[in-house]
Formats: sequence, structure tokens, C-alpha cells
Amino acid sequence: MSKIIVHQFPCLQDNYGYLVHVPDDNVTATIDTPDVAAIENALAVRGWTLTHILNTHWHADHAGGNAAIKEKYGVTVIGPRGEAEKIPGIDRAIGEGDKLSLGTVPIKVLDVPGHTLGHIAYWFETETVAFVGDTLFALGCGRVFEGTFPQMWGSLLKLLALPDETLVYCAHEYTAGNAAFAVTIEPDNKELVARVEKVRELRAAGQPTVPSTIGLERRTNPFLRPSAPAIRARLQLEGRSDADVFGEIRTRKDSFRA
Ligand code: ZN
Ligand code: FE
Repeated sequence: MSKIIVHQFPCLQDNYGYLVHVPDDNVTATIDTPDVAAIENALAVRGWTLTHILNTHWHADHAGGNAAIKEKYGVTVIGPRGEAEKIPGIDRAIGEGDKLSLGTVPIKVLDVPGHTLGHIAYWFETETVAFVGDTLFALGCGRVFEGTFPQMWGSLLKLLALPDETLVYCAHEYTAGNAAFAVTIEPDNKELVARVEKVRELRAAGQPTVPSTIGLERRTNPFLRPSAPAIRARLQLEGRSDADVFGEIRTRKDSFRA
């Protein structure tokens, strides 16, 4: 029996906001603060009282609402130690290995640098749920703004190590664009092709493609598949490291136009 309720809502251009509520303890966290009005609306819809902000990284569409939310609700702001000075209102700076919980529900913090150097993910292991911010997307991954390709690959490997059934809540609805790119990298992956069609149907119906699962990403997301022989052959990178192949895929995506 799950101990948390996740309330997902679209906001800004293509972000997802998330409230995580623990009924047993009557605590509620917002994962990041992309859009203050949208968060307030979600709280009102559910009738929940906000108690925590859990930030994944410092970008404005993730921490930009911190000050207004803290001012209004007096919540505890928890965020990445590696970029704590860039997280408005931070009360507790955390990193991998730290003990963290929301009410009585334990959370494992993963350091996943690359998109930003301090980026963290929140893994609710007992709930088989992970909030990954802008590190892993459905059929994609975050741009490597601050780190290096090997560093980002190392971060994705940590997420790949989570159980296949883990629900992956990422911070953006980028899946349709990612899908168009993914089939250029691994066109003969039948499960990928089927997923791309499913994504098309969902988006045409105005439905979210998020969350996905670690297992589905493992089998279909090209950024997680640099060891696949078909991808290596296509990119003519046989014999290179997984980090190198990942770097080439990420570079191609950076200049990809559907
Ligand atoms: Zn970001
Ligand atoms: Fe973002």
C-alpha cells in the first residue's frame, strides 16, 4: 500500500509540477517551484497544506517560486548542497547519503550532476517513485549545461540502477520531440517504435506521457542505450566507451531539428 499520493499538473510552457502528500503524517511537499499560481491552485484542488519544498536544481523553472512560496506558507526548503547558494530560501542543504524523509516516508537522495553541477534526484524507494528533475526525461535526458558528458552518463547510470518498476517523474513534457529524435538513433527498436506511436496518441488526446518507468526507459530511451550494438554500429562508434557514445548521442540531439 502506497504511503504517498502524487498530484501532477502541467504548468509554464512545458513543465510538470508535483505535490507529494503523505496522508498518515499530513505533510505535503512540492517538487520544485516552477509556477507559484499553479502550485497554489493544485493545493486548493486537493485541500492540502504545503509543508516542504524539495528542489532538484537551481534553474528558475525549478527554484524560481521558492521565495514567494516560503513567504506565504513558511515551508521548509530542502535543496542540493552542491548549489545551495543558488537556491532561494534554502533551510537544509542535502546530498547523496544524507538521511531524509517526508513525514515518515524515507527518501534517498541521489547526486546526479551534469545538467547542473549540484543537481539531485529524490528516490522514494519504498514507494517505487523517483523525481528526477531535468536529468532523465521520457525518451530523453537533460542538456549537459554545467557538467561533462562522462559525468552526466554517470548520473544516468545511477538512475538506471533503480528497479525497473520505479515510476519516473521528470520535470518537462518533452517526449514528442524526444521521440522524433530517438527513432533516428535506433530505428529498428520495435518497442521504441511502438512507444513513439503511443506518445503520439497521448499527446493528440492532450494526455501526459509522464510518468514512465525505469524499465521502459532502459529498453527504449537512446540516451540510456549507448551499449546497444545497433546504436554503436549506426553511429560508427564500435569499441568506444559508453560515455563516449552517450556524448555523441547528446551532441546530435543538441542540434537536432524535427
Ligand atoms: Zn533545468
Ligand atoms: Fe527545467
